[in-house]
Amino acid sequence: MDCIFCKIVKKEILSKMEYQDEFCTVFHDINPRAKIHLLVVPNKHIATVNDMETADEPAFGRMLKVARDTAQKLGLNAYKLLISVGKEAGQEVFHVHLHVMSVS
Ligand code: 5GP
Ligand code: ZN
Repeated sequence: MDCIFCKIVKKEILSKMEYQDEFCTVFHDINPRAKIHLLVVPNKHIATVNDMETADEPAFGRMLKVARDTAQKLGLNAYKLLISVGKEAGQEVFHVHLHVMSVS
């Protein structure tokens, strides 16, 4: 499958990676819209939140925890979390990703 985020997860293409475990991967957005702009993705290819299955619940829970932990590791106390679901909502990459953006 030709998915850019799957390739980042498998380290087939380079990214500034912050964290990886058995469920998810965190890397810096290539076109940051905040001083710190991370993307947290499930290692499994899931196109959108609409495609999430019950079996994916642990991965989504881990994504939120890892977003919090990585934000704190980088010194953020306040930050925004965003997931766009579907093209009309602005989703451009069809592999679920949680944006973590600093506010200053
Ligand atoms: P979306 O608009 O789908 O919610 O967000 C996709 C995000 O992925 C954008 O902020 C974009 O800058 C980022 N992005 C797209 N391609 C790459 C890439 O190859 N590497 C990294 N690190 N980020 C990417
Ligand atoms: Zn993918």
